[in-house]
Amino acid sequence: MTAFTPVSECWICGGTALTRVHDASFELAEYRTQDPELAAYSGSTVAIVRCAACGFAQPAQLPALSRYFERLYDQRWSRDWIEREHEATYKDLIFADVIRELGTRVQKPHPRLLDIGSHAGRFLVLARRAGWDVAGLELNPSTAAFALAASGAPIHHGSIDAFEAEREPFDAVTMTDVLEHVPEPRAILRKARALLAPHGWLAVKVPNAPAQRLKESARARLRQAYRPTLADNLVHVNHFCPTSLRAALAREGFEQIVISAGAPELPPNGTLATLADRAARLAAFRAARLLPGGLHTPLAFNLQAYARRS
Ligand SMILES: [Zn+2]
Repeated sequence: MTAFTPVSECWICGGTALTRVHDASFELAEYRTQDPELAAYSGSTVAIVRCAACGFAQPAQLPALSRYFERLYDQRWSRDWIEREHEATYKDLIFADVIRELGTRVQKPHPRLLDIGSHAGRFLVLARRAGWDVAGLELNPSTAAFALAASGAPIHHGSIDAFEAEREPFDAVTMTDVLEHVPEPRAILRKARALLAPHGWLAVKVPNAPAQRLKESARARLRQAYRPTLADNLVHVNHFCPTSLRAALAREGFEQIVISAGAPELPPNGTLATLADRAARLAAFRAARLLPGGLHTPLAFNLQAYARRS
């Protein structure tokens, strides 16, 4: 027996005019042995609804199962897979953008950076190489242990709710592909703000939901068996657009907010098909970032925000 709890107000602005945009399905059979209560949600669906006031989209209801999201992210990844994730370069363009942009904003010796959701620790290694004194926060025990060993940086294992900074506040906090996964995202922004020094900078990268939705439905029209999957299992629980991301940051006390098209993930070079895929992703990103109004076109598949603590 699976239960859900309704969500009746927009998590960003409190709006209650919420309209269904699509459905999320649950397919959790892989957890059958590890977590039967979680696996029991397989076959359910939940509507994803958009707020008329701010454009943010979120689930109309959440699984009532205690610690649903922590249990969902308790994947038992192999050490080989995590090592490959640490070595993989597919996010390096995103990481380079974040390091460059924070570098122009934070100018002091030995600046301190906290990466929330540090995964296998690749970003921490790159940021340290660029002169940052780095620390990480990671929910998954296996990736947290690997990131610690690989980067030598302090990695705090656990959720952000329980995290307390042991030393002075951070000059920068980064969240790359994290904010879309945590229900009630303003709470994590509030926490990030509390961890920052006055005038410290936050860097947030999330998918741009309207553009991703268009891409997914175009794909679905091309391939009959394909259905949109971004929201399935509520892996993406928050669906930001530029307006709602700005609103979330402003309401949590951030200023000097700049939102631009976010850099894409790039598949490794190899075949002609991946070469073409890389070229298409780069062309869309450059157009969305450089053309006036490009952020509000379907070419902006990702959003990159920088915002200062007031
Ligand atoms: Zn709203």
